[in-house]
Amino acid sequence: YPIGTFRELFLTAKPISRIVIVGGGTAGWMAAAALSRVLAGPRGPSITLVESEAIGTVGVGEATIPQIIGFNKLLGLDENEFVRETHAAYKLGIEFVDWLRPGHSYIHPFGTYGLDMLGIEFHHFWLRGRELGDPTQLDAYSIAAAAGAAGKFFWPQSGNPKSPLSKLAYAFQFDASRYARFLRKRAEQQGVVRQEGKVIEVVQDADSGFVTGVRLEDKRVIEGELFLDCSGFRSLLLGQALEVPFEDWSKWLPCDRAVAVPCTLAGEHQPLTRSTARPAGWQWRIPLQHRIGNGHVFSSAHMDQDAATDLLLANLDGDPLAEPNHLRFTAGHRERLWDKNVIGIGLAGGFLEPLESTAIHLVQSSVARLLAYFPTAAFGGAEIDRFNSETAREYRDIRDFLVLHYKATERDDSEFWRYCRDLEPPEGLAEKIELFRSSGRVIREHEELFTEASWLAVMAGQGIEPQSYHPVAALFDDAETLQRLEHIRQVVAHAVSQMPTQDQFLAQQGSAIDASERLTR
Ligand code: FAD
Repeated sequence: YPIGTFRELFLTAKPISRIVIVGGGTAGWMAAAALSRVLAGPRGPSITLVESEAIGTVGVGEATIPQIIGFNKLLGLDENEFVRETHAAYKLGIEFVDWLRPGHSYIHPFGTYGLDMLGIEFHHFWLRGRELGDPTQLDAYSIAAAAGAAGKFFWPQSGNPKSPLSKLAYAFQFDASRYARFLRKRAEQQGVVRQEGKVIEVVQDADSGFVTGVRLEDKRVIEGELFLDCSGFRSLLLGQALEVPFEDWSKWLPCDRAVAVPCTLAGEHQPLTRSTARPAGWQWRIPLQHRIGNGHVFSSAHMDQDAATDLLLANLDGDPLAEPNHLRFTAGHRERLWDKNVIGIGLAGGFLEPLESTAIHLVQSSVARLLAYFPTAAFGGAEIDRFNSETAREYRDIRDFLVLHYKATERDDSEFWRYCRDLEPPEGLAEKIELFRSSGRVIREHEELFTEASWLAVMAGQGIEPQSYHPVAALFDDAETLQRLEHIRQVVAHAVSQMPTQDQFLAQQGSAIDASERLTR
């Protein structure tokens, strides 16, 4: 290309100088904190966040997955301060109770299982052990599952591959409103300007349809070049102004309501989220340092709101601390998460029920992707298409993982569970289930969010029985196979016995909250 072309391109591709974030929930403040950290500097864009106290936030969203550690690093957070300020507890995985059948439970742990041998994954040896009569569940080979069940916690030792603690990964369970406040403080320190006010109109360029500003109730117009729609389920810019259609996945994920209520603590807690299956959905239990978050996610076609609320209130470990908070949603996402100069982040872009605590991660990955494809004022179509295809694929991957929990069940004790058990799974999921069923093989597509260990945890936990295993797992003789399995179990159990309880760990780190802040009966 002649030099002139580059120069012209460069001159027309003006940098973005004003970013406007509409909404100050978890999504808005996560985006504000990350963008202001990365794009800071005299030549960086101004960042304005508009939010309305009168409208408020959804006020839920308290369990996370290990990727949040990377987000905290990007923000330069001190972990102990973060834990103390957000009243966080640690999370080593999710315990699924009654999902396969009433009375059964398993843990989807963070980290990996056992020890890979002879170049193949550990679980093939576990399957071989079962064939030889060893009935031990997978949980016994996961340090995160065993520590979680024992109420223990310690940081992973990833720099020491010989330590069983190198197999551990963790995340947090925190107070959603404290998290938003914590991020707000950092974002404002990094130069983000917060504007209080209710957006009553989205102003668009008459020719291009690009958004040029948002008008507030007091008539002020906040102008910008790039708009992040973090307005929650209302999707003010992407859904309402730009009318980007919603891709509805409720045929696969029929739960469309939730009722949430926090309650008092009851003694020491395991570093685990718990999900208990209910007749028309499931109930979450998220223990934090000062209280427990609870909620009941259900299908309104199979249970009414009063019955769902009663069921939740009848199954709390402590006294309720607030009135029940009722929420409505539809599984799916906007067909284009980025349209023109608007990007939908958080609930404004889409929603998948919190079964695997992925919504905060989706916010984080959208922000990371926005940074990767950060536009100029020319808004290149190729980058926008790429952003959209990657984000949609991430939503689809998570959807398939969630559907697995419902589809692979023996439950047939209610209309809801019969519907789930009989539903036609999305194509990719059907293939994954079939591969595991036929030969114990677990595949992870294109760096998808959930690893082989996660797929294994849920496929095995939900009772899918492989008919065979990798032939290499038969190369040890029977006695050696059983001996090796027992040795791995002992190593895991010994490592867990040496770990402090979660409460001891928090106290050692100086990240425990004051005893007076703990809400107990
Ligand atoms: P919101 O919190 O709704 O914030 C929207 C913001 O937009 C608010 O500040 C509001 O004031 C503002 N706004 C709206 N309209 C206007 C207007 N006209 N003018 C000005 N401001 C406006 N995620 C997890 O990762 N883990 C979980 O365990 C989890 N559990 C969940 C349980 C349920 C039942 C639900 C529904 C969600 C859960 N999530 C979870 C998701 C998580 O809560 C959200 O992803 C996260 O809180 C992001 O929300 P948000 O910021 O997009 O929306």
